[in-house]
Amino acid sequence: MELIDGKKVANQIKQEITAEVEQIKKEGGKIPHLAAIIVGHDGASETYVGHKEKACNQVGFNSTVLRFEDDIAEDTLLRKVDELNKDTEIDGFIVQLPLPDHISEQKIIEAIDPKKDVDGFHPINLGRMVIGLPAYISATPAGIIELIKRYNIETSGRDVVVIGRSNIVGKPISILLGQKSDTGNATVTLTHSRTKNLKEVASKADIIIAALGQAEFLTADMVKEGATVIDVGITRVKSDKTKSGWKLLGDVKFDEVAEKAAYITPVPGGVGPMTIVSLLQNTLKASKGEIYPRL
Ligand code: NDP
Repeated sequence: MELIDGKKVANQIKQEITAEVEQIKKEGGKIPHLAAIIVGHDGASETYVGHKEKACNQVGFNSTVLRFEDDIAEDTLLRKVDELNKDTEIDGFIVQLPLPDHISEQKIIEAIDPKKDVDGFHPINLGRMVIGLPAYISATPAGIIELIKRYNIETSGRDVVVIGRSNIVGKPISILLGQKSDTGNATVTLTHSRTKNLKEVASKADIIIAALGQAEFLTADMVKEGATVIDVGITRVKSDKTKSGWKLLGDVKFDEVAEKAAYITPVPGGVGPMTIVSLLQNTLKASKGEIYPRL
């Protein structure tokens, strides 16, 4: 079994980005600038935005965080989005989800200029990705693809089972792996809560992507000997063994599945660290006008 070390790969990519930013600085070019909107005081959202800000500082990007109280009106937030759309200093921005109930997340996502949508959530970016045009690909699926690439995991002609069909992970990763590309050409089965005989379906797969959000759901009897197992799930559970009183569990019962798998990602330290790095990569692409011409 080989452990897919997302933390190590993420650090390597950060170093590569840092070197590129230093070069840009030397040449007097535009320093990539990522902005984030955060509404309210949700602990997990604060943590994610904090990590994103820290990662920007590490690689030499500029970063801006716009904070709003959770009683902000939808119209006001839409105006803030529009201001960021028009701000030529900002290359890309994200709106940290979830938003309070009185604000339509879909409306906000669709208000973001697709050219600055470095989270890749806008239907235009998703649509472009589906038909194989250059697009911002959302951070988690992009991170998974990067891991597959860097560990030389063959996807062509392989059977992939994706568990979970969310718009931000399951659906996009299933499309990317079925795409005609170096990290695609797989035969993909997208499964969900209505799938019958999931155990039987999963146990035939060469590659399993578990993204359902049920702690330790995937057990050894659901996995073929020699399969690659990518664990996207993050569930926080109480623990009396950690200082914080919490620990993170993935969707995979790691110890028993690791004995059968050829490659496996741990939680934490697998897909998670790649997610932030993908956001940095998208921001760099935005500042260089690689997906769409620079604004
Ligand atoms: P969602 O919670 O939006 O959706 C879960 C999906 O799993 C749904 O499609 C659901 O089916 C399916 N599902 C739920 N239970 C079962 C079951 N018993 N059998 C088969 N399918 C099932 O998913 P997300 O993609 O947002 O999140 C999934 C997990 O990944 C979470 O733990 C989340 O925290 C984590 N995550 C981690 C990231 C990272 O950076 N590592 C980034 C994003 C998410 P149905 O559609 O039928 O309801």
